[in-house]
Amino acid sequence: MQEQLKKYLKILDAAEDYLNGGWPKQREELSEEQLSLGRPEGSGKPALSGGYMPVRKNISAGDAGAGMTDRFQLISGGGRTPFSDETAADEEEAWKSDTLESIAAEVRDCRKCRLSEERRNAVPGEGVLNPKVMIIGEAPGAQEDATGNPFVGRAGKYLDKWLQAIGLQRDRDVFIGNIIKCRPPNNRDPFPDESSACMPYLKRQIRIIRPKTILTLGRISTHILTGTTEGIGKLHGRVFHFQGVPLVPTYHPSGVLRNPVYRKPVWDDLRTLKRIIEDQDRKG
Ligand code: URA
Ligand code: SF4
Repeated sequence: MQEQLKKYLKILDAAEDYLNGGWPKQREELSEEQLSLGRPEGSGKPALSGGYMPVRKNISAGDAGAGMTDRFQLISGGGRTPFSDETAADEEEAWKSDTLESIAAEVRDCRKCRLSEERRNAVPGEGVLNPKVMIIGEAPGAQEDATGNPFVGRAGKYLDKWLQAIGLQRDRDVFIGNIIKCRPPNNRDPFPDESSACMPYLKRQIRIIRPKTILTLGRISTHILTGTTEGIGKLHGRVFHFQGVPLVPTYHPSGVLRNPVYRKPVWDDLRTLKRIIEDQDRKG
């Protein structure tokens, strides 16, 4: 079964390369050293890459993060799209009974935008409540679409190394999600109507998850969550706040795999993130 899945994922990789304009791209094996951004700290245990279950705790939205919506409303334009027939009142009502599971179930059934037509699996995101960091990527790729889990492909394996490098474990310290929950065809950038249709889910998730910090990966999620439109190169080194939660923007692991020149700035950003987490831990 595992072998079959691996085979299937390999075929998806090859197909993705083909669609991206080449057949098939040589996927070079990266050495441990190339992958590592530094020495793992803390327990030294390897971060798990997948294999753990999404959080099953029931926490009502009423317990968590009231009043977190203004900024999101501003950015998402209130989430109204031609695909959405919810009213603001309906949305508020829905939020009251939100749990992570209920949002995930809604996402899996969602048909609010065209991306529902070609998805195999929606990818609601997974991880722990109250994580040290909530990582927000762009949208699922081929392997995420095949499995329903976030960041399980090459970029995800690489991301695990980043976390390990600053002493974080994916199954203990992190929640990982995306702006867009369904895979855009050929991994194209999401259209604005798709991101505004999908943003309400992320807003509701953040309300429940209550992350201590946020790490945005790449241009799309950084722009949407910070409200800026500057290039990631310019944003590098700056710390933003999202609803009072410190937000560190960095490059997308896929971009760094393609272009190793970004490794150094990513490492700087990860150290910034680690410092913020340590400061918070010290203050309790
Ligand atoms: N890239 C993303 O932005 N998100 C994923 O879940 C996987 C790859
Ligand atoms: Fe719904 Fe988001 Fe999927 Fe569009 S991308 S169908 S809004 S879950």
